[in-house]
Amino acid sequence: MRVSVILPAAGLGTRMTPGHTTHGAPKQFLELAGKPILIRTLQVFAEVPEVSELIVAVRATEMERLTAHIFEHGFAERVRVVEGGDTRQESVLNALKTLDCGDDDIVLVHDAVRPLIEPAIIRRVIEAVEKHNAAIVGLPALDTIKQVERTADGAIVTATIPREYIVQAQTPQGFRSGLLRRAFAEAEADGFVGTDEASVVERAGSQVFVVPGSPSNLKITQPGDLELAEFYLAQRGNSSP
Ligand code: C5P
Repeated sequence: MRVSVILPAAGLGTRMTPGHTTHGAPKQFLELAGKPILIRTLQVFAEVPEVSELIVAVRATEMERLTAHIFEHGFAERVRVVEGGDTRQESVLNALKTLDCGDDDIVLVHDAVRPLIEPAIIRRVIEAVEKHNAAIVGLPALDTIKQVERTADGAIVTATIPREYIVQAQTPQGFRSGLLRRAFAEAEADGFVGTDEASVVERAGSQVFVVPGSPSNLKITQPGDLELAEFYLAQRGNSSP
């Protein structure tokens, strides 16, 4: 059984404000304890023996920068770079089209900007996909969740959703390759764009299993996240360059 990992990394990172030295690069190239975030993410997946190949989707303008990082950190043999698209879904689809795997093989999709994913959680997702065909990492909600209607002034609560019905979707999200391809083809034909892969697969009528995630598997999105990620890394005793 092959396990291919797709890391969409073609976002612009517009929610990260100035204050961090990016040299004009998107957030996935920011350094976390001395290494680019994306390289840290690749390193974790490269450590998992079940993983057969790694594909990163980046903007055309970042291909050169990424290729240089991949060489510098010794991943040239294991990582393929493809061009991303205007949406995350398009970036994943571009990578998916380059995969040479059977319908029963497994594809994991993981946000490039979640470098603190643990190998044990990756394995948990792989095992769940073997059993249920589709699985994501989910974090139980701790806050009370409100449904709202947006107004000119802000928002008005329209419902309170019982917490036991809520998990926050993280990544990796894993699927049998055939299932993911079919769901993506249907979404493309219908012009549907989801914010994660599971929403595309759910829409195609398949059940998606949830495995427990971890609060430290944070998505580096806004100012302060990088500092928090550095804190978690230091706690693991893993911050050396
Ligand atoms: O925008 P969001 O926070 O959902 O981004 C999650 C991941 O998807 C990031 O790693 C980002 O680089 C990637 N992405 C992409 N192509 C896009 C937009 C986002 O690969 N067009």
